Amino acid sequence: MIIYKFGGTSLGTAERMKSVADLVVRDDLQKIIVLSAVSGTTDMLIKIARSTGKQGEEIISQMEKQYAEYIQALFSKEENLLEAKNFLEAIFDGLRTGITKALPRDERLFVAYGEMISSSFFINLLLERGIDAAFLSALDFMIATDGEPNMPAIKYFIRESLDKVGEKNIYVTQGYICKNEKNEIDNLRRGGSDYSATIIGAALNADEIQIWTDIDGVHNNDPRIVRKTSRIDELSYAEAAELAYFGAKILHPLCVRPAREAKVPIRLLNTLNPSAEGTIIQSENQKEAAGVKAVAAKDGIIAINIRSSYMLMAYGFLKKIFEVFEHFKTSVDMVTTAEVAVSLTIDDDSNLDQIVTELEKYCTITIDRNQTIICVVGAFRKDDAGIAVQVLEPLKDIPIRMISSGGSESNISVLIDSKYKQQALEALNRDLFGH
Ligand code: ASP
Ligand code: MG
Repeated sequence: MIIYKFGGTSLGTAERMKSVADLVVRDDLQKIIVLSAVSGTTDMLIKIARSTGKQGEEIISQMEKQYAEYIQALFSKEENLLEAKNFLEAIFDGLRTGITKALPRDERLFVAYGEMISSSFFINLLLERGIDAAFLSALDFMIATDGEPNMPAIKYFIRESLDKVGEKNIYVTQGYICKNEKNEIDNLRRGGSDYSATIIGAALNADEIQIWTDIDGVHNNDPRIVRKTSRIDELSYAEAAELAYFGAKILHPLCVRPAREAKVPIRLLNTLNPSAEGTIIQSENQKEAAGVKAVAAKDGIIAINIRSSYMLMAYGFLKKIFEVFEHFKTSVDMVTTAEVAVSLTIDDDSNLDQIVTELEKYCTITIDRNQTIICVVGAFRKDDAGIAVQVLEPLKDIPIRMISSGGSESNISVLIDSKYKQQALEALNRDLFGH
């Protein structure tokens, strides 16, 4: 069994959805296709959920028009077109009723339509082509408890869903959406379709999870910033997770975990160039080349320096600081410590004022905004010499605010002012990858 996940841009037009349908029948392997919403749809649904009546009505009408054209170009049989029209009509009616309710509305009910629409179109397209396919509703098996996938429940219910429809070559389902422990419609947060795919892959112990996007796998630097990048053939789960977390916009940061736990490889492939090899993400103990593999940058970072004379020779001080961040549900990314001070970074400033007020009771705080984490990922074994120099040498002309190394064997990170980001990525690209 192979899991295929297609993102919104791969379904962006009827033509592209048709190419996806061509792609999934290139071989006879049994597969589950996990789909995102058509690109732009989730954003529009969020706007609708948050809008006042008139604005909402305008966006609904705009969507209605776009989707009418989409199905016209998608289906060739009149009966399928009619079915899609009726299906959309029911959804747009539902949205119109939805916006008559007062704000705030339950956004989760609005956004769920995106994946429901794309998956309904896709299964009907396959059936129109006479392909042996069946539909699985993610709401029947994708169960989240406290916002996290409930793996035992998912394993049980996905088997049940598969049994119910019987043996097929292709199954189609939705990414992103789920049911929570209260049996409400919920979702796995933005970009969560990748996560759905790896959860399903892990639940069924699939042979492989394929994430199809618009780029030939993971690149060693950010193609939007530097001129030349190259594709990476292979990454370990740890390297992929660090890269996804620290800015490479390739994968949902949480999605590596289920695959890693179940030891299912993830392959990143390109719908615009389906025969390209892509990148494979798999277990650490596969043949793994040592050294630097990729560089990523994460903007919008806030550095907090916490200084206190109480810290000198004291124990429990870090605990006290981290408890404040825990209390305000703010996750800390980088940490460096000195004798009487700690510097750390966060990327979410929604509770920053309260955090500072709390910490100022016993510390002196300074804050630097507009910082960027530059994350260098690779296999850095702790017995290897010279890696830090290799990473820092290219950055010798750039003021470095923090350095973090040794936390894992796959990441060295530095914090710089965002105005040096381009210069830093170019320098690393030149010296580490010869571009
Ligand atoms: N449609 C959802 C989003 O736009 C989930 C996804 O595409 O992965 O966030
Ligand atoms: Mg995505």
